[in-house]
Amino acid sequence: PDVAKTKITADDRALRNGHKGALIWLTGLSASGKSTIATELEAELFHHHLNCYVLDGDNIRQGLCKDLGFSAKDRAENIRRVGEVAHLMTDGGLIVITTFISPYRADRDSIRKAIEPNEFIEVFAKCPLEVCEKRDPKGLYKKARAGEIRDFTGISAPYEEPLKPELILETDKFSVAECVAQIMDYIKDLIYVEKRA
Ligand code: ADP
Repeated sequence: PDVAKTKITADDRALRNGHKGALIWLTGLSASGKSTIATELEAELFHHHLNCYVLDGDNIRQGLCKDLGFSAKDRAENIRRVGEVAHLMTDGGLIVITTFISPYRADRDSIRKAIEPNEFIEVFAKCPLEVCEKRDPKGLYKKARAGEIRDFTGISAPYEEPLKPELILETDKFSVAECVAQIMDYIKDLIYVEKRA
């Protein structure tokens, strides 16, 4: 979006908050660990006095995007809207964490292009399909295999792996806490600024 020309800039907000806004964009197969990591990461950021917010399927798909399904076209529109909202929120100074499968590279890349360099942090929750399918915390893979869910990523719809993500988390090899620590370690040099009253 075109950011409104107001008196207060993103820099002003960062100086007040002691940190910049950023968009931590988790992508990966269903059950790769995006929501679990986002929940723990949000708590960790919060405890470090960093302003943050999680955008996920629950608070987006049922509201802003409730008119959309799971075709490639609707997924692209879903991701475009999330990108627009997340961009506004990061401009407002928040560290936004998103937990969408976002299977198409072009959709993710167009968000990257719209956002200031260093503010878009693509994090690939990398986990083999077999492991995701075994985890199946919501029973979705079982339903997809039974043909009860159409266009299911990894089964009947594609997932395009990021080519150059800022971070790769191998969620089948590292614990949730280790994955969160890897993100914290990556962002610490990017987001902190010296606080000014
Ligand atoms: P997604 O949001 O990607 O669909 P979820 O977070 O809902 O995935 O589910 C991931 C499942 O995998 C959870 O049951 C979680 O406890 C488990 N899990 C095991 N190891 C990890 C890890 N390192 N990171 C994230 N989740 C993990």
